[in-house]
Amino acid sequence: MITINENYLKLQDSYLFSTIAKKVEEFSKNNLDKKIIKLGIGDVTMPIAPAVIDAIHTAANEMMHKETFRGYGPEQGYAFLREKIAECDYKKRGIDIQVDEIFVSDGAKCDTGNIGEIFGTDNVVAITDPVYPVYLDTNIMAGRAGEYNDKEEQYENIVYLPATAENNFVPELPNKKVDMIYLCLPNNPTGTVLTKDQLAKWVEYAKVNKAIILFDSAYEVFISEENVPHSIYEIEGAKEVAIEFRSLSKTAGFTGVRCAYTVVPKELKAYTKEGKEVEVNKLWNRRQCTKFNGVPYITQRAAEAVYSEEGQKQIKENINYYMENARIILEGLNEAGFEVYGGKNAPYIWLKVPAGYTSWEFFDYLLEKANVVGTPGVGFGKCGEGYFRLTAFGSKENTIEAIERIKKLV
Ligand code: PLP
Repeated sequence: MITINENYLKLQDSYLFSTIAKKVEEFSKNNLDKKIIKLGIGDVTMPIAPAVIDAIHTAANEMMHKETFRGYGPEQGYAFLREKIAECDYKKRGIDIQVDEIFVSDGAKCDTGNIGEIFGTDNVVAITDPVYPVYLDTNIMAGRAGEYNDKEEQYENIVYLPATAENNFVPELPNKKVDMIYLCLPNNPTGTVLTKDQLAKWVEYAKVNKAIILFDSAYEVFISEENVPHSIYEIEGAKEVAIEFRSLSKTAGFTGVRCAYTVVPKELKAYTKEGKEVEVNKLWNRRQCTKFNGVPYITQRAAEAVYSEEGQKQIKENINYYMENARIILEGLNEAGFEVYGGKNAPYIWLKVPAGYTSWEFFDYLLEKANVVGTPGVGFGKCGEGYFRLTAFGSKENTIEAIERIKKLV
């Protein structure tokens, strides 16, 4: 008899985006004259930079000729791209990352989801709350989460680290020993960041406790403030305790093209039950070589072009466009008297819903009265209740109009 991985049965159904879609569909059916503005989804809207498109064309043409055709590539990524990453994302910031510490992939979602495979299932996992759901769900699948407690709305074996206005979105260090810590900075959904000193405390915790930090910096390119680390490796000693995930999805509009990378430093060690040190880089390399056949050559050439002078200029224009939207949202909501967070180093604005509303009630209210769609904070975790996420990925015109409508409500 074929049996299943019963951990999958422990997953809570995710109704967040399907419920939003259903509510929006229902509303628009009954209000055909209303223009709905969607500031809910976390997908980019600006087209790919021309320099990147040129590289895609060139690479596609190479496939046409016997001399330049490419078949299977290296599972870890082509040297031309890994070298560019090492140079532009690290060396330029004074960080020494070797080419063979970089693993090119088709997404930070896959990498943050798959990384758990190389670690024991008895490790204790800490996640911030609210959180990008992949970290939690993949650990439930792996059997690290234990049973779901309906009353607590939490899994028994997960250590939740609240990040709310009360602690200024700086989660406290765990009050029990944990082994795997997921940090997403700049944060989705709150748009908040940690300073170097604040992040250094986590690195220190991981060192003392022989834990690992899984550092998701998919939104690094949006950082505008000084003293916000662009990479966890800016913190001394972090190479011994952290894996870093980066993505071109939001950086360069690659959500459909698909390219990301993961850095696994060679200094990083994990342990056998007997306490023997093992190089994590070797394990991840083995895992990728066995289960992954690399990112398409054409995509990697596209990614390489992101790092060209032209590419950088063009992607920065898009980032500036989104961050101008973020500024409009942030300032507009501030003027309207909302408590607002994020939006300075991330394309997400996290607002406190008015007193008396749950985050879903505020969703309904905003949809009905302003015809604006956002994302209820509770969809990202229990501590997201009472908050609401707006994204800066819409058009400038729609963003301005949405904020004007919200201002009129108060
Ligand atoms: N990490 C975070 C925090 C995200 O918000 C997202 C996408 O929304 C991802 C990773 C996924 O990135 P990718 O498109 O590279 O899979």
